[in-house]
Amino acid sequence: MDFLPINLRLRDQPVVLIGAGVVAARKARFLLGAGAQLTVVAPEQDSQFRALAETHELVWHAREYAPGDLGGAIMVIAATPDREVNAAVYAEAKSRGIPVNVVDSPNLCSFIFPAIVDRSPLTVAISSSGASPVLARSVRSRIEAMLPAATADIARFARLHRDRIRAAGDTEDERRHIWEQVIDGPVAQLILSNRWQAAEQALAELLESHRTSPVGEVYLIGAGPGDPELMTFKALRLLQRADIVLHDRLVNPDIVAMARRDADKLYVGKQRSDHSVPQDRINELLVELAQQGNRVARLKGGDPFVFGRGGEEIELLAQEKIPFQVVPGITAGNAAACYAGIPLTHRDYAQSVRFVTGHTKDGKLQHRWEEFLSETETLVFYMGLVGLPIICRELIAHGRPGDTAVALIERATLPSQRLLTGTLGTIESLVESASPQAPTLIIVGKVVDLADRLRWYGSG
Ligand code: SAH
Repeated sequence: MDFLPINLRLRDQPVVLIGAGVVAARKARFLLGAGAQLTVVAPEQDSQFRALAETHELVWHAREYAPGDLGGAIMVIAATPDREVNAAVYAEAKSRGIPVNVVDSPNLCSFIFPAIVDRSPLTVAISSSGASPVLARSVRSRIEAMLPAATADIARFARLHRDRIRAAGDTEDERRHIWEQVIDGPVAQLILSNRWQAAEQALAELLESHRTSPVGEVYLIGAGPGDPELMTFKALRLLQRADIVLHDRLVNPDIVAMARRDADKLYVGKQRSDHSVPQDRINELLVELAQQGNRVARLKGGDPFVFGRGGEEIELLAQEKIPFQVVPGITAGNAAACYAGIPLTHRDYAQSVRFVTGHTKDGKLQHRWEEFLSETETLVFYMGLVGLPIICRELIAHGRPGDTAVALIERATLPSQRLLTGTLGTIESLVESASPQAPTLIIVGKVVDLADRLRWYGSG
């Protein structure tokens, strides 16, 4: 991070602005909006500036900047067309230890102005650290569109009732739960509909009902194959509600980091050979944590119900009558196929697709191989890297031609994704030279040939 975003209280604080042109007027508008006590030094004022000066209280010295003008200021902005003046202002501010911003001169800034979405008291600041103001503005316009104007009313309502809500919860966690119910629930919706009285009533009911003991909840969340953008909105929303996050190896750390900062994050494995926390213990842990009143997010790679043991994890919850939700995720089979340019079905080449486990037990795979012989069915093997030689051997032994196309997609959807293609006959030797690592997905069938033409991700 090149710049740390902070929110500065400027009310009644002395700020000096050197310059009174159009750009200076824009800065002055922000500073006055934040209640700063503004002193402006400039020989002349732009008409926009004059209009501003008529409606706000500010001190104007109608002259050039002179050393000593910055005394007592807590912040300085230089916005003159004269580079020498700007540099002199910068030098004086630096020597006095005052934060300074010289407009359009990134090297002469100890702080920069972000793009702002203003729903005061809620504000959103967006900055590209000077790398691309246009990008920052584009992000701002997206956020503008996401936040209804009345978001400001929700923030005002929250401020008004802060003490009452704080008093209603005994612990930090409880208070946060109440807040989340206010912000995500009917109270906020009523405010957005401009129905304050009804919102007050709903809040009173919420605080009353909270007195009955809170129950925890479990969210079994499919986090997708790796690329954080492939999470669903719901996955993100529930992840951010969680007090505790249980995640395993397949889940991208960037996704785990999207949880609340104060949420406990618990790594529970598991690699092929490292079952950090045994499955039974995970199942029990979910129950225990929820019974203590926590909201628990169980993050799973891909989809929880595709080779994810998601069914086992919620069985105990169902038995113990603990509320839970299951959020589907994009499974590796779908994701790897898309990111490799391999349509799993295609009118000309494949009419069906089969997801198969390639996980070996004692060096063996128990499948009815004779069911895997259709030329028009795509086979997708999960966990098949170790068992790849067996898979190829069995398929050929049962009658699939040795020249059947095979693709290996390593770390699908991540920047380091790799695609290896070959045939049932050749892929093993290819693997020896390229030595792909887990997680790798295997796709078998005619559709693999399309990757030559349809590859798009990470293909240079
Ligand atoms: N529930 C998960 C699958 C878990 S099994 C899902 O729906 O995707 C683990 C296997 O998934 C790995 O051995 C690998 O074959 C596959 N896999 C998961 N993420 C992958 C990725 N990013 N790239 C390639 N394969 C992946």
